[in-house]
Amino acid sequence: MSKHVLIVEDDVDISRLLRLELEDAGYRVSCFDNGMRGLAAIREDRPDLIILDLGLPDVSGTEIARRVRRTDPTPIIILTAADDVETKVTLLNAGADDYLAKPFHVQELLARVGVQLRKHGGGGATRVGDLTIDAVRRHVAWGEDEVRLSPREFELLQYLAGQPGRVYSRREIEMNVWGGDLPPSSNVVDVHVANIRSKLRDAGGYGVIRTVRGVGYAIKG
Ligand code: CA
Repeated sequence: MSKHVLIVEDDVDISRLLRLELEDAGYRVSCFDNGMRGLAAIREDRPDLIILDLGLPDVSGTEIARRVRRTDPTPIIILTAADDVETKVTLLNAGADDYLAKPFHVQELLARVGVQLRKHGGGGATRVGDLTIDAVRRHVAWGEDEVRLSPREFELLQYLAGQPGRVYSRREIEMNVWGGDLPPSSNVVDVHVANIRSKLRDAGGYGVIRTVRGVGYAIKG
């Protein structure tokens, strides 16, 4: 069955173009031109991916992302007219998985849609020893015990678990988990790793993430 992409965009030219291109690429597409109708349809239809315009007439794309993210792991790509660091940080913190600044190339959007669908719909959970990471349900467990992570902690752990045993540098982690938007010499990666370790220990998981001094971190392979 083809994947369902739901678009919330009040610019009819853009949503028409996106619909054509996405349908051409084999997706099922539905379009909404205001935030509240879009949000209702997201709840009702449970699409596989959401494309949100940031500037909508009623509710902002950021607010929709935030509301969806409270209950739902569906990947969200936000279209924005602004391309500054502050906007990006706000969008990513609101729970957007990716964003594109307008004007964008439709091929780039299609590529990013594909990336998000692979990332979220990869089928089944990743297992590393006693650790289970379910990307679809955004659920982490150590053995039988659930480990409750913040969205960013989840992404960090999921990123490290992409290749168990491989050492990921702080810079790589910043680029891939935070989109590179951290100030230089920020210790935010270390703080998140410390939080994840503490939560894993509470569930009985010791020594899951290894520190490689002066380089970065690895999940025990
Ligand atoms: Ca708009």
